Amino acid sequence: MTGPRGEARTAAMHRLFVAIRPPEPVRDLLIDAMDDSPELRWVSDDNLHLTLRFIGDVERPLADDIAAALGRIRCEPFDLRIAGIGAFELRHGGAVWAGVQPREPLTMLAAKVERLCQTASLTPERRAFHPHFTLARWNRWSAAAAQRLVERNRGLASDPFAVDRFTLFESRLSRHGAHYEVVAEYRLEPS
Ligand code: ATP
Ligand code: MG
Repeated sequence: MTGPRGEARTAAMHRLFVAIRPPEPVRDLLIDAMDDSPELRWVSDDNLHLTLRFIGDVERPLADDIAAALGRIRCEPFDLRIAGIGAFELRHGGAVWAGVQPREPLTMLAAKVERLCQTASLTPERRAFHPHFTLARWNRWSAAAAQRLVERNRGLASDPFAVDRFTLFESRLSRHGAHYEVVAEYRLEPS
């Protein structure tokens, strides 16, 4: 496994990503859209998030530099709402996600995070930015359950909610799934 600058992973590395945590009423709405289908691997309340930038494995000094640089981002708070549901196909399965509107403020904030990551000499993110909240993951045998989830929640929508901060998370992977820890929170301030 290699890190975001192509170096080999060591035990001392930190798997980081930058994300937005939804407020509780939005988490409740997303959880209400879920069911008890055992074929899907559901995202827990604690893990619901919208990824702005996956950083990947970095060593402590670089992690500290990134954490400090994120604090220099200037961005106004903005409103988002949940709008729609869909599914990504991955190699051996996929993910069901809730969509968000509007995209522009997220795209602008993600671009600021991306610029900073490149200044910190991370490899540029080549994949297009598709803001979403992952609800569940499926494997190659449970595509039908994922499709049912999408069909049942076609009109998924929330009231607008304020985004006034973003978060640097460290992800710890284990047999029991990912556990995210807050490294730092960054407030969005009106100018
Ligand atoms: P698990 O890997 O156990 O399914 P997870 O995907 O939530 O859980 P991570 O793999 O640590 O945990 O990922 C954290 C966040 O970063 C998630 O939003 C994930 O979709 C995203 N992510 C992970 N790997 C990449 C990648 N290579 N490129 C872009 N985003 C990624
Ligand atoms: Mg993952």
